[in-house]
Amino acid sequence: MTTAKVITRFAPSPTGFLHIGGARTALFNYYFAKHMGGEFHLRIEDTDKARSTDAATQAILDGLNWLGLSYDGEIVYQSKNAPAHIKAAEALLESGKAYRCYATPEELESLRAEAREYGTAFRSPYRDKTEALEKPFTVRFRVPDGETKISDAVQGDIIWQNKEFDDLVLLRADGTPTYMLAVVVDDHDMGITHVVRGDDHLINAGRQSLIYKALDWDVPIWAHVPLIHGPDGKKLSKRHGALGAEAYRDIGYVPGGLRNYLLKLGWAHGDQELFFSDDEIVKVFTLGGINSAPARLDFDKMDHINSQHILRMNDAELLDLAMTFIEEENQGPLDDALKARVLAAIPTLKPRAKTLKELAAQAKYLLLNRPLEISGKAAKPLRKPDAMTHLSALTNELKSLEGTEWSEGSIQTLLQNYATRHDIGFGKIGQPVRAALTGGTPSPDLSWVLALLGKQETLGRLTDVIDGEFYKE
Ligand code: GLU
Repeated sequence: MTTAKVITRFAPSPTGFLHIGGARTALFNYYFAKHMGGEFHLRIEDTDKARSTDAATQAILDGLNWLGLSYDGEIVYQSKNAPAHIKAAEALLESGKAYRCYATPEELESLRAEAREYGTAFRSPYRDKTEALEKPFTVRFRVPDGETKISDAVQGDIIWQNKEFDDLVLLRADGTPTYMLAVVVDDHDMGITHVVRGDDHLINAGRQSLIYKALDWDVPIWAHVPLIHGPDGKKLSKRHGALGAEAYRDIGYVPGGLRNYLLKLGWAHGDQELFFSDDEIVKVFTLGGINSAPARLDFDKMDHINSQHILRMNDAELLDLAMTFIEEENQGPLDDALKARVLAAIPTLKPRAKTLKELAAQAKYLLLNRPLEISGKAAKPLRKPDAMTHLSALTNELKSLEGTEWSEGSIQTLLQNYATRHDIGFGKIGQPVRAALTGGTPSPDLSWVLALLGKQETLGRLTDVIDGEFYKE
């Protein structure tokens, strides 16, 4: 027996941004396909011309690209497949599995009201008439008697009585295909073996199974993933916070961190929480690991996972990703010297940042222009008795350190020795030095601050303060 190659797809409707729920669906499809040695395809479902925009398509592509999700083959645009959809509808007409419905909008309204009143599904009076009329018509699916069963890889076995399903429209009066028909035809044409999507489409799986069978096509394996809920357990909405993948990029999440978080949102592999490499995920990702209960967004966990990814990233790559945030802090681009200074500081910034935005804020002290503005609480240590005397003396000692000795270790020793020699607590010099060098912005261990600022910048900032060129009340 040969097993068919697994082919999955992500099929977003381009009506907005890449929703995090959609991004997660795409990830699940991607990892499952790769786990099975198969292919992952992208189909843009742009049949609803009124709601679909090129900008939304671009936003989805940008989001996928940023997340690092690549698809196999060419993008399929559903609107271009209309001829195939129409052909399938004609085949169904031919075989009697679909019929022409001539009901006028008024007739439809009263038929629907009737169906609602009796709690039955919609049936058109034209389903049993064979004569062709010279009137506009829609092509409707003739729902057969009986029941429809699917075995969903996430939700288990589900059975519907067919009498619950409307005779749905396949081709509108203007001849355009509907979503329900287009999805079936496209999935069939693309050779999709597994449909992994949000469980808001679960009932569509019942309807679509009927269309597959009517066309004598193999029904794909379904896997309907519960939707993401807000932290309060309610359906995810704007009031819970950002919904688009790009918003998480703009907050400062790294692609690997968001991928890891979304992957874990509703899928488990034992109790492993962190996944740093794609290969590792591909190895273990199965549909069986998808939870059948809705997952709740947990921003603390998202931060935690992101911080772990930041910590593990290569310094230069991390700087690259963080650059827009750093430029924002710097209010402009960085010259090469400043870039080098920040790059050297990355190992000290990494452990303190949950997001790239935080990382940039932690780097602020490296970016300040001389003379620094040091005011209010930040200037307090500079107003203490002896502060200036110590700053001057210490600055002189620091001047004597040769450029090659300007390292975290020798600076630390020099500061310690100074405090010991003058019989003062380290804070007595540490606080004014920190104030003079950072103006109260967040900073790591003092000796690191000096080492990373470099000799020239450190002495410059200290001298500014000693010369009174600093704080504004
Ligand atoms: N285009 C549909 C949506 O964005 C998805 C259809 C499907 O996955 O079958 O909700």
